[in-house]
Amino acid sequence: MKVELEADKCVASGQCVVAAEQVFDQDDDGIAVLLEERPAPEHLADVREAAAVCPAAAIRLVEQ
Ligand code: SF4
Repeated sequence: MKVELEADKCVASGQCVVAAEQVFDQDDDGIAVLLEERPAPEHLADVREAAAVCPAAAIRLVEQ
C-alpha cells in the first residue's frame, strides 16, 4: 500500500502523528510530513487509523 499526503489540505491537527508516528511527522508549522511512502506491514493498521481520523481528508491510501 502506498500513502499519499496532500500537504496543501493539511490543517496541522497532528492526528496522523498521534495515530502513526512511524509514518508521519510535522514540520515547524505543524504541517504533516510523510516519512514512509510505503509503510511496513506492521504499520498499516496505524496508517489506516491516521487516514480515518484526519480532519482534512489529506491522507489517501492507494492499494497496490
Ligand atoms: S491528521 Fe491530517 S490535518 Fe492533521 S496533521 Fe495529519 S495530515 Fe494534517
